[in-house]
Amino acid sequence: MHRLLVLASLWACTTSITDEPFVDEGEPGRDLDDCGGTVEDDVPEPVASWLRCADLVAAGGTLAVNSTSLPPHLSPYYAETDDNYVAFDDRGGDWWQNPNTIASQDLLLRFDLEPVAKGLTTTADMVDGSAGTHDEEYRGEFQGVGLDGTALFTGVAAPGDDIAEEEYTFDLYEGHPTNLGVYHHHGANPAALAALEHLGEVGSTVPGEAEIELYGVMCDGTFVLGCPELDGSAPDEAELDAQNGHVGDLVDRDGTTLFAGRYHVHACAALGRTYTPEIQYYEGQCLEAGVGDGARARDDLERFGQKHAQTLCVRCEQCRLQSA
Ligand SMILES: [Zn+2]
Ligand SMILES: [Zn+2]
Repeated sequence: MHRLLVLASLWACTTSITDEPFVDEGEPGRDLDDCGGTVEDDVPEPVASWLRCADLVAAGGTLAVNSTSLPPHLSPYYAETDDNYVAFDDRGGDWWQNPNTIASQDLLLRFDLEPVAKGLTTTADMVDGSAGTHDEEYRGEFQGVGLDGTALFTGVAAPGDDIAEEEYTFDLYEGHPTNLGVYHHHGANPAALAALEHLGEVGSTVPGEAEIELYGVMCDGTFVLGCPELDGSAPDEAELDAQNGHVGDLVDRDGTTLFAGRYHVHACAALGRTYTPEIQYYEGQCLEAGVGDGARARDDLERFGQKHAQTLCVRCEQCRLQSA
């Protein structure tokens, strides 16, 4: 009964869909309080505090993230028997539900904490919303992680599909699952902002309206911000490349530099682009390992955690995983 009330409020209030908690306290279901996740000591801020519902290990200048990618909120893409299931909202008939159902994953993502730039400039001809059209594109679908531990996919649809069309299958949190059940976002979304709201960092979960907006991080170390910088200031629009990216210090509201000289993109409607990046700015082979392969992801994370003191050849390790 109460879930119907939540749905009604979601429906009625399009400007702030998470005034209600994702799943009411005391009710069964997955939410930001019980979505799991562990953080080891060496994980830097703000990732350690802000990235929820995932296991985080930092070692050898690298951060590893292991996640189920189960969204900590209601979704029509959960099985109808799931406590987090809610009926699909077709928003007046323009949206439709894809045939896929969310399944628990064992996603493994690893990236350099101090990545090396490829030295490229992203121009308009490189950004077309389609996979497989440029050598410098991210190589796969699962290429980043959001603040609620769910997968970030790049800002492209599969070959032959149109990302702008796929958007119409998103749930109210701007996510949807693949045919393997991998729930993911492609850009700005209320779910990551709800994770920040849950921590008391922002007062709005509406993309474009929060005091600060961080959606997640891509596997090459590119951060995905929303409209403002992490100190709340407006980015210099003239600096942004064709995927709304630029290099700048990521500074928090206390003036602390979190990441110096870091490439990041602004997924922001007011800046003309709401998607995650398409072109990979930093070196490194982004892993797609671990999708649907829990044992390997977990083993690798454990091995990785045990190797703190050893020099780890991240690139080689990634090659090994990719060829495994
Ligand atoms: Zn998608
Ligand atoms: Zn910026």
